[in-house]
Amino acid sequence: MLTNAPKGTKDMMPEEGYKWHYLEEKFADICRRYGFQEIRTPVFEHTELFQRGVGDTTDIVQKEMYTFNDFAGRSITLRPEGTSPVVRAWVEHKGYAGVQPSKLYYNIPCYRYEKPQSGRLREFHQFGVEIFGASDMLADAEVIAIGNDFIREMGITDVELQINSVGCPNCRQKHRDALREFLKPKYDELCDTCKSRYETNPMRILDCKSPIDQELVKGAPMMLDYLCDECKEAFEDLKANLDAFGIEYTVNPKIVRGLDYYTKTAFEFITTKIGAQGTVCGGGRYDGLIEEVGGPSTPGVGWGMGKERMLMTMEACGAQIPDEEGTEVFIAVMGEEGKKAGVRLMKDLREEGIAVQMDVAGRNLKNQFKHANRIHAAKTIVIGDSELESGKLTIKDMTSGEQTEVAMDEVVAALKK
Ligand code: ATP
Ligand code: MG
Repeated sequence: MLTNAPKGTKDMMPEEGYKWHYLEEKFADICRRYGFQEIRTPVFEHTELFQRGVGDTTDIVQKEMYTFNDFAGRSITLRPEGTSPVVRAWVEHKGYAGVQPSKLYYNIPCYRYEKPQSGRLREFHQFGVEIFGASDMLADAEVIAIGNDFIREMGITDVELQINSVGCPNCRQKHRDALREFLKPKYDELCDTCKSRYETNPMRILDCKSPIDQELVKGAPMMLDYLCDECKEAFEDLKANLDAFGIEYTVNPKIVRGLDYYTKTAFEFITTKIGAQGTVCGGGRYDGLIEEVGGPSTPGVGWGMGKERMLMTMEACGAQIPDEEGTEVFIAVMGEEGKKAGVRLMKDLREEGIAVQMDVAGRNLKNQFKHANRIHAAKTIVIGDSELESGKLTIKDMTSGEQTEVAMDEVVAALKK
C-alpha cells in the first residue's frame, strides 16, 4: 500500500525524463512560433466552475471529478480539463481589456476518476491552446494547424484529422428534436448512460463508445444536415482555410462537443496505433463559454492534447527522441587538498554550463573511476598530490581513451571549447 501509487496514476522515472522534456520543449517552441503565450492556473478550482464550464450533463461532471470539501466547507475540484480554468483566469484578470485576440497555451496535469486502461489514466497530462476574441474561421484553422504541425514535428505519421460542425444554439434545437424522434423507438436498447443523454444531451449519443449504441445510431439525422446558413458558411470557410494551410482532413459527422456553449467547429486528431483510446487531441469552438462563466460575450476556440497518448503514439510510430546529454566531466580526487581543488574546478566548470560531477559517497580512487563509467561520464580528470604539485591535469576521453595534459588554470577554457 505504502509503496504503491494510487490506481490510475503513473510515476515519471528519471530514465523517461528525456522524452517528457523533449515533448515539452518542442511544444513551448511551436507555441512561440505561432504567437501563443503560456498561462498557469491552480490545480484546483471551485467546483462550480467545471459544472458551468464543462457542463452538468457531461460524463466529466457527472461521474469523473475529484471533488471534496476543504476545511472551510468550500467545494473544491481537481482540474479535469484546462479550458474552463483558463477562461476563469482570463476573465478574473481582465484579459479582455488587453490586445485581442488572446492566444494562450498551457501544459498541465488533469484529474478524472475514470476506469484506468491503456491511454486512460486518473492523473494525466495535457497540452492545450486557446484563442479568445476571434470569430474568423482562420482562428479555427490556426488552432488546428498548430496541433497538426506539432503532431507531425513529433514524428507521428499515423494520425487523421476529423472535423465536424456542431452548429449553434439556433440550429441545434431542430437537430436535437429530430435525433430524439429517430432514437425514440430504440430508446430501450440504448446503454444506461445514453438513456440519460437522450434527455439532457442527445448529440453525445452519436459518439458513445458502446458498439450496440454505435449500431443504433446508424442512419441517425446528422447536425451537418441541419446547419443554419451562418453555420453552414462557417464550415465551408473552415475547410477553405484548412486547404490554404495545406492540411488534410476528413469530415466525420459524429465528432461532437455536446454542450450548448460549443458552437460550429469540432475536431479530433485520431490515431489507429495505440488501440481504443486513439484520440490524441480534441477541440473546437466555444462561442458561449466565456459568457457562461461570467465574462463578457467573447468567442473562443482551442484544443486539449493528451501527453501520455502523444508519447505512446510517437513510440508506436518509431519517432526518434534524442537522448539528453549526461555528465560531461567526472572529477576523481585523492586527499583533502585534491578534494578542495576538485570542488573549485567543478564550480568553475558548472558556471560555464558544463555538466560535472564528483563522488559524494566517500569512494576510493578505483571506485570513483568505476562510478564515472557507470554514469557514462564523457571525460574524467584526476586531482591528487602529484597534479597539485605539477599544476597540470590530465583530461581523459572515456570513449577514445585519449589523454590530454592541460595546465590547471586552462582546464575550464579547454573543456569549454
Ligand atoms: P476520450 O474520448 O478519450 O474520453 P475526451 O473527449 O474525454 O477523450 P478531452 O476532454 O477532449 O477528452 O481531452 C483532450 C485529450 O486529453 C484527449 O484527446 C486525450 O488525448 C486526453 N485525455 C482525456 N482523458 C484522458 C485520460 N483519462 N487519460 C489520458 N489522456 C486523456
Ligand atoms: Mg473522456
